[in-house]
Amino acid sequence: MKRNGILFIISAPSGSGKTTLCNKLVHSLTGLSRSISMTTRPPRNGERDGTDYIFIEKEEFIKRQKKNEFLESAKVFGEYYGTPKRYVKHLLKKGQDVLLSIDVQGAMKIKKLKAKSVYIFILPQSMSQLRERLMHRSTDSKKEIAKRLSIAKKELSYLPRYDYVVINNILESALENLRSIVIAERCRML
Ligand code: 5GP
Repeated sequence: MKRNGILFIISAPSGSGKTTLCNKLVHSLTGLSRSISMTTRPPRNGERDGTDYIFIEKEEFIKRQKKNEFLESAKVFGEYYGTPKRYVKHLLKKGQDVLLSIDVQGAMKIKKLKAKSVYIFILPQSMSQLRERLMHRSTDSKKEIAKRLSIAKKELSYLPRYDYVVINNILESALENLRSIVIAERCRML
């Protein structure tokens, strides 16, 4: 029986370990692909164009936005991020499930599209754990860390609008919970 793919939307405060979890999740399950977003933010150390993000200039981003090329887009921490529409639609039509790792604004925009989608929020165990992770990452300045922590508090207010919450305290258990959510949603009747 052929079905359209399911959109899995994952949001989390910056520094929750979302990227690591999402990468492990797509590698641990067949039929699940991660959408690669476009962004105007510069690459961090070790990030690769076309793998982590597609890095583009602001002018190019705005041009693409005007041409309606994004399924959703949002300004996060002063930079633009967007999900390429054509690629995602192509995968879903083929029956491939797609994982979008996006912020809460983007997730709420997808909700309005009324596509078959599942919303998952990843939480750190505590705010102090989040602060420690951001500091440990050492890719962000102190000012940037403070900004990300204050935004994290605002993002938490969106939690009730998500279907599932996964606490990322122990990586393996968080991954197992995410896998279980995907597997259960694939078995859902409606
Ligand atoms: P970072 O710069 O730390 O990689 O990402 C900052 C935030 O932007 C994260 O919450 C991340 O999930 C979000 N983000 C990444 N790609 C997209 C996207 O395509 N759309 C939206 N709305 N947010 C995104």
